[in-house]
Amino acid sequence: MTNGAQRHRVVIIGGGFGGLAAIEKLKGADVDITVIDRRNHHLFQPLLYQVATTSLSPSEIAWPIRMLVKHRPEVATVLGNVTGIDKAGQFVELEDGGRLPFDSLIIATGARHAYFGHDDWEPFAPGLKTLEDATAMRRRLLLAFEAAERETDPDKRRALLTFAIIGAGPTGVELAGAVIELARITLKNEFRSIHPEEARVILIEAGPRVLANFRESLSTYAKTALERLGVEVHLGQAVTDVTADTVTYGDQVLHAHTIIWAAGVLASPAAKW
Ligand SMILES: Cc1cc2nc3c(=O)[nH]c(=O)nc-3n(C[C@H](O)[C@H](O)[C@H](O)COP(=O)(O)OP(=O)(O)OC[C@H]3O[C@@H](n4cnc5c(N)ncnc54)[C@H](O)[C@@H]3O)c2cc1C
Repeated sequence: MTNGAQRHRVVIIGGGFGGLAAIEKLKGADVDITVIDRRNHHLFQPLLYQVATTSLSPSEIAWPIRMLVKHRPEVATVLGNVTGIDKAGQFVELEDGGRLPFDSLIIATGARHAYFGHDDWEPFAPGLKTLEDATAMRRRLLLAFEAAERETDPDKRRALLTFAIIGAGPTGVELAGAVIELARITLKNEFRSIHPEEARVILIEAGPRVLANFRESLSTYAKTALERLGVEVHLGQAVTDVTADTVTYGDQVLHAHTIIWAAGVLASPAAKW
């Protein structure tokens, strides 16, 4: 700051990896930084699947953004949902009517699930991006086993113990492995009427291989490893319909009480502001 003049104001929307990396890069710069996030925590998304499948608790993968920047006096934290940007006026607009002026703006709002024109599938096949998604998924997975324990109709019980994961990118592959381990290891011997280890975990992928963005040898390795764990990997069959308890792909209709979406992401709405 010179002669009491206001320092350059940098506003960063999003306290994820991108936002935190920007804060780190700006260390030592003659600026005041405000990071705005609609959640009070930074989330380590790569471990969300472990929260969803009970091997980690939410507090092990999330830290208050405020705490992460407490040693940086030039960084202020605002909890708020950004709904727009006034480029001419140089301020961001918050859902609660608040405004934050900026000289420079960094948008690091991440991505969200993409259902490729089938947003109506989302309630039946939720994805995994936030802590809320992970805890809801965990509840859904565990309740399926509980319901199966009390179900006497064999077809309904089979559907309750069938877990369909759509999309065999990194998230789908990790989830499939973790769900089968939940069934075969974590829950083994914990029920009396059902055998959780008999649960089916089916990984459905439209493309010809799992982990399509990786080397082909790694795709082959991952598929073999999943199959050894007991996951059924169905490749080259696009999903054409999803309902509350069915997934249609190729020429078959799979009855599955739990359906998980891991098939695609889309830039956050900020891209259109
Ligand atoms: C299940 C899963 C597993 C993954 N595994 C891996 C892995 O193994 N390796 C790897 O490299 N990558 C992995 N990724 C990808 C990686 O996590 C992302 O690339 C990374 O989180 C992106 O960082 P980001 O800062 O761009 O966005 P995000 O981490 O999504 O952060 C965006 C932030 O912006 C905030 N925000 C969004 N919109 C608004 C708004 N309107 N107002 C205020 N705040 C807003 C959000 O609350 C969030 O805190 C995984 C992702 C997922 C979902």
